[in-house]
Amino acid sequence: MSEPSVFTRILSGEIPGDIVAETDRVFALTDIHPQAPLHVLVIPKTEEFRDVTELAAGDPTLLAEMVGLAREVATRHADGEFRLLFNTGPGAGQTVFHVHAHVLAGDLGEKSLVG
Ligand code: 5GP
Repeated sequence: MSEPSVFTRILSGEIPGDIVAETDRVFALTDIHPQAPLHVLVIPKTEEFRDVTELAAGDPTLLAEMVGLAREVATRHADGEFRLLFNTGPGAGQTVFHVHAHVLAGDLGEKSLVG
């Protein structure tokens, strides 16, 4: 077995973290290096899936639950509008291989990331 991920260690209370919401299968954690007024990570409690492609193939319902919790957090802590980002692979900036979505909200500027 490999070491538990940093997110699993936060969920278990082994290391500190600001968990702002949770359901039976998903939790939302304030990012330690925020890139927006609201920057929360939405994370499945299982670390069975490394990235969003594995999750979508293996448990699409869990992926939908992540989107639902993202919406809830963005509604409670911002104006309900948000950007949802999955870095997928090291070349795309993924550093933690326990699938997670970045929820970015608040004043993100007028420009979208693409287009
Ligand atoms: P990735 O680069 O894999 O898409 O995202 C990993 C995210 O986890 C980064 O935004 C990073 O700031 C966040 N992160 C890494 N270690 C910790 C930690 O110990 N606590 C919290 N709250 N966030 C962390």
